Amino acid sequence: MEHSLAGKTALVTGAASGIGKAIALLYGQHGANVLVSDLDAEKGQVVVEQIKGMDVQAHFVLADVSDPADNERLVNEAVNRYGKLDIACNNAGIGGEQNLIADYSLESWQKVIDINLSGVFYGLKYQLAQMVKQGFGTIVNMASILGQAGTQKSPAYVAAKHGVVGLTKAAALEYADKGIRINAVGPGYIDTPLLKSLPDEAYDGLVGLHPIGRLGKSEEVAELVIWLSSNKASFVTGAYYPIDGGYLAQ
Ligand code: NAP
Repeated sequence: MEHSLAGKTALVTGAASGIGKAIALLYGQHGANVLVSDLDAEKGQVVVEQIKGMDVQAHFVLADVSDPADNERLVNEAVNRYGKLDIACNNAGIGGEQNLIADYSLESWQKVIDINLSGVFYGLKYQLAQMVKQGFGTIVNMASILGQAGTQKSPAYVAAKHGVVGLTKAAALEYADKGIRINAVGPGYIDTPLLKSLPDEAYDGLVGLHPIGRLGKSEEVAELVIWLSSNKASFVTGAYYPIDGGYLAQ
């Protein structure tokens, strides 16, 4: 394994499960010290122990991305423990209710926007303040194919993920001349616990939406995120990278 991130500090939200877990593990495999953050301390600690086995440091921090103070504390933890924050991946997100707009609950709208969109803004706000002080840093925001295309019965998710793509561009333009790169990735449907909240018939129908003929794997998304986070992507900022088995090409 190439140690392209040796000596770097990386922070991942929603890192106890699915895509975030795969990203945290691959940051560790590439030599970064990793701050693993999630709402689920037990599963998060399992990820920390796995990363520690890779000869790098790792710590778990319980943080709710929809709480601005938690985001600030997370950045402070990274700096206090490791002295700097090189890399952040704003990954935490939820699927939310499945319903038509007229029937969609106000509570689910607010919750999905709070976590999937405001959570990314709060993350950026405090991560960027630190990265400006340092004069370097890279951030990857987790969008979705639903940050570029719509679908039925997930209005809050679609709106939030489109918002993440816009926020990524706005942030990239503001900080491009300050040594900080900010990009978004847009996975197609990836086989993670997030999809388990879907009804069985909806889950089965997802495979057929991908020309490649299967769902994606968390590890495949992690490879793209690690590349964007590394110096190999040194001229890439403000970009949205789909990783979707051909979904958006249709
Ligand atoms: P996942 O397996 O459910 O993992 C998400 C993790 O985030 C969970 O550990 C969850 O904890 C945590 N989390 C939820 N709310 C949080 C909050 N407020 N603060 C901090 N952590 C929180 O989901 P995933 O599929 O890996 O999704 C990760 C990201 O990829 C999300 O942004 C999602 O929208 C995006 N994405 C997923 C797919 C897909 O098909 N799976 C496709 C495109 C994009 P709990 O389990 O305790 O709630």
